[in-house]
This record gives sequence, C-alpha cells and structure tokens, in this order.
Amino acid sequence: MRISDKTNPVEYRAIEDRYDEMIYRRCGKSGILLPTISLGLWHNFGYLDNLEKSRRILRTAFDEGITHFDLANNYGPPYGSAEENFGLLMKRDFSVYRDELIISSKAGYDMWPGPYGNLGSRKYLIASCDQSLKRMGLDYVDIFYHHRPDPDTPLEETMSALDHLVRQGKALYVGISNYPADLAERAINILKDLGTPCLIHQAKYSMFERWVEEDLLTILEEYGVGCIAFSPLAQGMLTDRYINGIPADSRAGKEMTYLERGQVEAQLPKIKQLNELALARGQKLSQMALSWLLKDDRITSVLIGASSTKQLKENLEALDKLEFDEDEIRKIDEVLNQF
Ligand code: NDP
Repeated sequence: MRISDKTNPVEYRAIEDRYDEMIYRRCGKSGILLPTISLGLWHNFGYLDNLEKSRRILRTAFDEGITHFDLANNYGPPYGSAEENFGLLMKRDFSVYRDELIISSKAGYDMWPGPYGNLGSRKYLIASCDQSLKRMGLDYVDIFYHHRPDPDTPLEETMSALDHLVRQGKALYVGISNYPADLAERAINILKDLGTPCLIHQAKYSMFERWVEEDLLTILEEYGVGCIAFSPLAQGMLTDRYINGIPADSRAGKEMTYLERGQVEAQLPKIKQLNELALARGQKLSQMALSWLLKDDRITSVLIGASSTKQLKENLEALDKLEFDEDEIRKIDEVLNQF
C-alpha cells in the first residue's frame, strides 16, 4: 500500500490521491461510509502529549484516507484536553476539509463535579455536547454517542437527549457505546420511534475480547446499525510491542493508563503464539489482529489508537490482506481458547 510521508510543519495540504487505497464500508443501512480503519484520540492527544507529534499522526491519517476521528469529552489527560488540542489542529490543518471528515464525540463518564456531569441524564448530555463543540471549535459533530449505559436514568430520557441534539443541528447522527445486546436493542427501538435512527454501536472488540460475537452483532445487523470496534489491538497487546518486555514509553509501561503490566504478562504466552501465526501468513501481529476483525463485514470499522506515525502506517497495511483460510482461523481460535 502507498504510504505518505508528508511532514511539512507549517502549511498542510492533504495529498490528492488520499482516497485511492482506503477501503470504505457502509455503516449499517445508513448513507454513511466509514473508513475500515478509523483513528481514536483517547491517548496521545492530551496536554501531556507532544502536539507536533499528534499533528503528524492526524495528517498522516487523513493523507491515507482515514476520514473518521473519534473523541470523547473526557479524553486527555486532563479531561477535555484531547478535544481542545484537536480543535487547535482542526483549525490549523483541517478546517478546509471539514466536509470530508466524520468527527465523533461522546458523553457518559465522569466529566465535571456534582450530580450533572456524569452518566445519562438529558441535562448532562446536552451540556456536554455544547462543551465539546466549544472545545473543538465546531458547529456540529457528525456522530454523538452515549458513552455507556446509565442504570438509573430512564433509557427514554437518554435517547431523547440524543434525538434532541440531532434536531438542534449539533449532531448529524447518534450512536451508543458499551451497551450490552439487550439494552442496545431497546435503545435502537426507542431512537427509531423518535425518528432519529441509531447509526452505530461502538463496542470493545478484539481477539482478546469477543463478547460482541454472542448476540450484539446479530442484533445490529438485523436493525441495520453499524459496528465500530474499539481497542482492536487490545491497547497494544495484539502487536509486537510487548514481545520482548514492557518498554517504558509503552501504555503498559506508563503511569495513569488503563493497561496494567499484569494484564500484559498474563496474555504474553498467547501474544507470542499469535505473533508466530501472523508471521506465517506474512503479516505483523498488529495487522493480523485488525484483518481478523475486518473479515466480518458486519464490522464497519476498527477504531485504532497510535502513538506514532510508524504504528499508524504499519496498521494501515492490514488492509493488504483481509482474507483468512480455514486453517488460519482454526489455529487462531485454538490459541485464543487456551486458558
Ligand atoms: P488500540 O487497541 O488500537 O491500542 C492503541 C495502542 O496500541 C497505541 O496507542 C500504541 O500504544 C499501541 N499500538 C498501536 N499500533 C501499534 C503497532 N503497530 N505496533 C506497536 N504498538 C502499537 O486502541 P485504543 O485502546 O487506543 O483505543 C482506540 C480508540 O477507541 C480510542 O482512541 C477511542 O477513540 C476508542 N475507545 C473507546 C472506548 C469507549 O468506551 N467507547 C474505550 C476505549 C477506547 P503505545 O502507547 O504503547 O505505543
């Protein structure tokens, strides 16, 4: 696949043939096509990160046909800083490309103190969307998600807040994230009755996290809702990052992340075997992990993170080989099913 290296630090012009290599898939039964690889800004885009590096990652992504950037109110750290940095880069580099981008944000986790800055009330969702738009300097987001279920707020209230944001023109589409299958089905039906179809479900899905295969994917297909798989590399475990130990600059090697050393150590035997299987089919483990998800066309997109343009480019090459033969699938399952 063609890989660009455009690094002009001052003026950015996206390369002209940026749409030539990326594969786009329809999101459920909607009018929206998403790139099969999308970029998330959970890590590597906050105030603690190097803004020029973040900028290079975003530019490279767009130059390679990645038209979808995913954010949330609390991405950083500190909370809000990924959206602020993205807003800055949006203004500097991407404002002329706004109509070529699908930008998403979310609310659902703790964001500000007191009873109105968390979970799923109408009060929280509408205020949070307004804050996100201000931080990013946008008039609207393309997708606004409820980030996780709230057991105490009526689902009708949360979904009507999403519907309201669309009617206000602050979001073009809405989605849900981390909803188990039964609740997702209820949410989809409520949104349908309100006249704002649920575009997409953002679910944790990787070789190490297969819960969506049980019921969720069947339900989403039935209702024509797309699925975007987050943490498809299991936060980096499904790459060669940890094969020879835990580097100090890796997610597991750093403080204040959601990937603990113990998790990596526990998965290491499987990681090493999967790495061998990947090499045998001519891929890096990262590439095999992404291809493995994309072999199912119910997966609209895989939502990766990257701490460098090198990682991003490596991951994009997954698209060169999406097919698996039965033997490869069987061997991968054998490794994944080990205790
Ligand atoms: P991944 O599973 O893709 O992990 C990304 C991390 O893996 C990178 O930051 C890097 O970590 C490492 N990595 C990536 N590519 C390579 C490579 N080729 N070789 C070696 N290491 C590599 O995704 P994330 O966990 O970052 O999540 C992606 C996005 O999903 C988020 O940004 C967010 O948008 C979304 N998300 C949504 C959630 C939700 O609740 N809805 C929750 C979590 C994520 P390192 O720092 O070690 O280099």
